[in-house]
Amino acid sequence: MQDYVDLAEKNGVTLLDNGKCQFCGANTKRGIHECLEIFNLGFHQIDFANIENHIYRFLTVDAHTLQHPEIHGRWNNHFHLSRLHLIFKYDVKWSYKLSPKLSEYLNTYKAHKKDEYLTPPPILERGEITTTDILENSINEKRCKDLIKRWAQEVYDKWNVHHSVVDNIVKGFLHVK
Ligand SMILES: [Zn+2]
Repeated sequence: MQDYVDLAEKNGVTLLDNGKCQFCGANTKRGIHECLEIFNLGFHQIDFANIENHIYRFLTVDAHTLQHPEIHGRWNNHFHLSRLHLIFKYDVKWSYKLSPKLSEYLNTYKAHKKDEYLTPPPILERGEITTTDILENSINEKRCKDLIKRWAQEVYDKWNVHHSVVDNIVKGFLHVK
């Protein structure tokens, strides 16, 4: 469970235990730890047993990961930004079976792109919406879904300098999948 602590250390980042989330600015009292707890609990207004709602799980994971790249490995940025690009720009209806295919494609890709880094936008400039906004404002299922979609779209937009890189990945992926 403490994996993210190790990853942060490996990335040279000191995690702050109090106050707002140091990465996304979420209105937490215990910083990134609480931000991750909200993320891990998911948003209970949405019934994820319904296959049509899986998209909100994918958007949540992508948005949160790209807001907090310091607690993930660097290639996660490629994966999550590529997936958002596929969803938003190519209207791909994502499903659980596509995720391992994208990972597999990226494994081949990264062997040839060892020096390619997707440098994240500055800390606290990765989208206005955060986990606590969604938690506090999800008065019903529709509102929760709308917020998650806006959250993912904002984060995706903030990573726009890398859209051309992931567009290449996505084209290759769509070709082989
Ligand atoms: Zn956060």
